[in-house]
Amino acid sequence: MTDFKVNALIIKESESGEYDKVLTVLTEKFGKLFVVGKGVKSVRSRHMATTQLFSYASFNLRKKGNYYYITDSDLIEGYYGIRNDMLRLSLASFVCDVACEVAKEGVEERDLLKLTLNTLYAISKELRPLEIIRSAFELRVASDSGFMPDLTACRVCGDELPDMSCLDIMDGTIICDKCRKNAFSAIVKDAFYETGTPRPISIISSSVLATMKYIISARSERFLAFSLDEKEHQMLFDVCEKYLLNQLERGFYSLDFYKSLT
Ligand SMILES: [Zn+2]
Repeated sequence: MTDFKVNALIIKESESGEYDKVLTVLTEKFGKLFVVGKGVKSVRSRHMATTQLFSYASFNLRKKGNYYYITDSDLIEGYYGIRNDMLRLSLASFVCDVACEVAKEGVEERDLLKLTLNTLYAISKELRPLEIIRSAFELRVASDSGFMPDLTACRVCGDELPDMSCLDIMDGTIICDKCRKNAFSAIVKDAFYETGTPRPISIISSSVLATMKYIISARSERFLAFSLDEKEHQMLFDVCEKYLLNQLERGFYSLDFYKSLT
């Protein structure tokens, strides 16, 4: 079997025996791969730096059975700014856990890799406040993974930028405040109730809506380049977190841990 070269980001690591690791890596061409690092926990291993969580490196891999084995590696980016700060470290862990959850095996994951690398870079340099980085990542990763919300206009009256509106967390559509006040009219009733219980919604202002539109449509390297009045930050944080977790139908221990530190 011949070796092949691939750039990969380590998004998960598990110990295997005294010196080995089983790594989940994210690649552009092949999505998620499972790689065995033989002896990489040893301080004498030349692959020690490249096989740490958050390392982005060029690997030479050889396939044997269901796993890939490392024959050579070169570090491209170590994101050291993440590793010496507990808050950044826990947020970066959450980012990698989400990437690991949404990444598919054996298919191209160019956008996901780019977004994850850009997010880790932003965290390591703290280019924006961490909560801003987190919420933008949450919305963008949901959107790029097949859960793009339809933020174009109120789904009832077609208003494109209402003063206040609410996002239906389940189906990702918006309804403006005026239409919401008519919640019991037949046409919008289904937006609020499902089998008798209220559906989860998040109230958003026009500037939060505009910010969300920006986050899902900006070029990947520009997705954090928005400004939003500080008074409205919490509204953005709430809606992005709720939307991602609802779409993925799960929580993350790493997110709970990060939030316990803030
Ligand atoms: Zn409306």
